Amino acid sequence: MADQHSVVDGIHYHQHDVVIVGAGGAGMRAAIESAPKASTAVITKLYPTRSHTGAAQGGMAAALANVEEDSNEWHTYDTVKGGDYLVDQDSAEILTREAIDAVYDLENMGLPFNRTEDGKIDQRRFGGHTRDHGKAPVRRACYAADRTGHMILQTLYQNCVKHGVEFFNEFYALDLIMTEVDGVKRPAGIVAYELATGEIHVFQGKSVVFATGGFGKIYKTTSNAHTLTGDGVGIIWRKGLPLEDMEFYQFHPTGLAGLGILLTEGARGEGAILRNASGERFMERYAPTIKDLAPRDIVARSMVQEVLDGRGAGPHKDYVYLDCTHLGAEVLETKLPDITEFARTYLGVDPVTERVPVYPTAHYAMGGIPTNNDAQVLSDNETVVPGLYAAGECACVSVHGSNRLGTNSLLDINVFGKRAGNNAVAYAQTADFVPLPADAADGVVKMLAQLRESDGSESVAELRKALQETMDRNAQVFRTEETLQTALADVEKLRRRYPNVKVHDRGRRFNTDLLEAVELGFLLDLAEVLVYSAINRKESRGAHMRDDYPTRDDENFMQHTMAYLTAGLESPASDHIRLDWKPVRFTQYQPTERKY
Ligand SMILES: Cc1cc2nc3c(=O)[nH]c(=O)nc-3n(C[C@H](O)[C@H](O)[C@H](O)COP(=O)(O)OP(=O)(O)OC[C@H]3O[C@@H](n4cnc5c(N)ncnc54)[C@H](O)[C@@H]3O)c2cc1C
Repeated sequence: MADQHSVVDGIHYHQHDVVIVGAGGAGMRAAIESAPKASTAVITKLYPTRSHTGAAQGGMAAALANVEEDSNEWHTYDTVKGGDYLVDQDSAEILTREAIDAVYDLENMGLPFNRTEDGKIDQRRFGGHTRDHGKAPVRRACYAADRTGHMILQTLYQNCVKHGVEFFNEFYALDLIMTEVDGVKRPAGIVAYELATGEIHVFQGKSVVFATGGFGKIYKTTSNAHTLTGDGVGIIWRKGLPLEDMEFYQFHPTGLAGLGILLTEGARGEGAILRNASGERFMERYAPTIKDLAPRDIVARSMVQEVLDGRGAGPHKDYVYLDCTHLGAEVLETKLPDITEFARTYLGVDPVTERVPVYPTAHYAMGGIPTNNDAQVLSDNETVVPGLYAAGECACVSVHGSNRLGTNSLLDINVFGKRAGNNAVAYAQTADFVPLPADAADGVVKMLAQLRESDGSESVAELRKALQETMDRNAQVFRTEETLQTALADVEKLRRRYPNVKVHDRGRRFNTDLLEAVELGFLLDLAEVLVYSAINRKESRGAHMRDDYPTRDDENFMQHTMAYLTAGLESPASDHIRLDWKPVRFTQYQPTERKY
């Protein structure tokens, strides 16, 4: 069924059975399930193939056992231990079990994976993925050189086109309409802004899927693209729905020093080694068994520790080296061509002959919109919002707990993207449209008018920079009560200045100036929840390392954080954020000391 489209009072109205927000891996994987069965719209602020999934480099995990012995159970164990036991274990079991089909689905759709000599999908090592419960690294990551995400995104896009998915490219979703039906709140649709024209569109859908990706732009040094501003997570938050485990933000060990541009962990998977200024392979001290292939939280912390202890390299002793020189030109040019080029282009360093300066970079949000295993969004610890789904980096299932393993996100977006699509379309086939209120678009129209017409004096770029700088300084790899309180105070100050921002471009067409102001609003909201949740978690677990509470405290904190917005955003965080806990689900693994 084609798009049902009408225009009333200058607002465009569309009707689709399933409305998906986001055309990254998760959104398009969902669309492939839903489009053959029901009319499906994908709203995306970026042209689909520019989504961040396309920047993913190293691989996608699945225990195919193509090159050495492996099992789903080992993969589950690694995922649970990698997440420092905050993972919901039944969800991790689904992730690793469905991984096998997720890879073969992509292969059948045409994805050109690297191959072994006998024609099977090749697999490489990655951090935290081990044989037999931590005995040694295992080759589990399926890959296409260091362009795995690019290949996934292109493959999914082609298949969406094949299935007649209707894309609304460069449309920014800015609001979710929720309507109460028989005492239950349900999604009625999405309000979006069309970049090319400045016009407002309301997409009515029987079910709505959020797949809007991460929010790395709350940090300054990040591997994330400029557009990863957490809009979807922010929209959900402003609707009064909870966010889960926001304090857990992952720092990837190997960002190009000073820039944050990512060098895939696949480099270490292929044998690259981290060294400090004196050339020592320091990971031998921190993780004697799997060394450079320890999970990211441990490697990132070890690198920062080396620098803090004065063993950093460079004129300011503020980075360490990634040494690929022993891998040889052929491995670098064929299996890691993009990152080899990145090092040459951005730092003028040739990995074939020189060590590459690296330092941790903000990379991945473990937390986000809470969902169950069917990708249904939750309004508290258990209650489902009928018709509302989320998948991918914006969601928190939780399969990553407090620290995601490399290659488990490309897996997550495929497994839970597929589940979201299947369940959203099944729901749409039985449900009716929820009536749209007459004023559906009013909130967005008002917000944009205020920003566009404001005579304020604050600069969006300056506020964003100040936010990113305080987050880099105070809510990074190591945190304390003091640094987090500083970050919170800074974010609150910035939030008070935000209503006063000036948008210079007052026009309608391609007004990116206006949208950057909107995105800054989401960044500020999410940074505040992140820091507030981090203050509350007085222990160290996974990516959340508190210098003042350096050990894991299972007795008090083996629980997910659930944050709720309770009042207007104008007040201090303590007046409008309520924090609660949600139990972690266990199946087979009891928490033990996490050694590698
Ligand atoms: C450099 C880099 C390398 C990585 N390498 C790997 C790897 O090798 N293996 C691995 O497992 N993981 C990797 N990751 C992580 C992984 O790629 C991401 O977590 C994952 O791809 C996210 O997919 P997604 O579909 O959730 O979101 P994205 O791919 O980020 O897509 C988000 C979509 O939402 C849309 N959107 C956002 N806001 C709006 C809005 N307001 N209105 C409309 N549309 C909106 C965007 O247009 C986009 O289409 C990497 C990440 C980075 C940054």
